[in-house]
Amino acid sequence: MPQISIILSMYSLRKHLLWVFAFVSLTFTMKAQTSWLETLGIDFDFDVPKPVVTYKDLIGVGSARHMSGNICVLYLFVGTETSQWSQDEIEATAQKLYAAEDWLKAEALRYGKKVEFHNYSIKRQLTDNNIPSDPFKPDAVNYPKTVLRRFGYNSNRELHNILLRKTNCQQFLVLIFPRIAGRCYASAVNRNMARNGSGRTLPECCMLYQISNDTGRELQVGRIAHEMLHLFGAWDFYAVNADDKERSDRAAELYPTSIMLRSYGDIAQRSIDPLTAWLTGLSRKEQEWYKELMPPQQ
Ligand SMILES: [Zn+2]
Repeated sequence: MPQISIILSMYSLRKHLLWVFAFVSLTFTMKAQTSWLETLGIDFDFDVPKPVVTYKDLIGVGSARHMSGNICVLYLFVGTETSQWSQDEIEATAQKLYAAEDWLKAEALRYGKKVEFHNYSIKRQLTDNNIPSDPFKPDAVNYPKTVLRRFGYNSNRELHNILLRKTNCQQFLVLIFPRIAGRCYASAVNRNMARNGSGRTLPECCMLYQISNDTGRELQVGRIAHEMLHLFGAWDFYAVNADDKERSDRAAELYPTSIMLRSYGDIAQRSIDPLTAWLTGLSRKEQEWYKELMPPQQ
């Protein structure tokens, strides 16, 4: 009789560094590939985000539409046979996630929006020797789906509704932490997918590698916040290709502290700029130059 343990971690903002962990241990007879979500009544038929069609298509669609209200975060750990997460590392990474969420909450509040993150994780890590490390390789696009399937999320779009019902969240997202070097990326639902129905209830997902293969740095709090903001519709302000310098320079001039321009270093020095606030639903104030700062398609 297999046993699946779920860590339900709910973060309280009222007290500094006070974490309430409720350990829920479910023991049940499993059919092949039964997931713990199915024990909550979830029939999960997963459909994977395609690469971004246009950045504008990310605004206001998907499972993470705007940065307000109750947001459910499902975070999962993936290692390889030779690179396994230790419990201490898992805990330290979870603390980074919570710090990123704290920062997002405080920034949202500057725009008058209240956000609460409700964190859920699965205690065991997945072992996979074929974790992709480059978001532009074809297997990377499908990888969040692969991970969710391997964790037992074998069918369905009702995940959204179930989570709404069970967790009192209006939105949710999935964060995957692979214990390898790689280039972090976000798989966000776009408007086209939402229109054809596939993206309406799809969990949006980030891959957050332990080590950046661009810089060799360990995953930083700012990077987690940056990728999460992408799921809510944020654009990159750094140059995304060789022809993108002019746009990036303009963004740097207008929003020098934006986390979408630079995500490393002390997160206390970064901010959610007014355009990112507009894209992520924190602000309604639109400026005519916003469209000029839209990144080119990659
Ligand atoms: Zn980015």
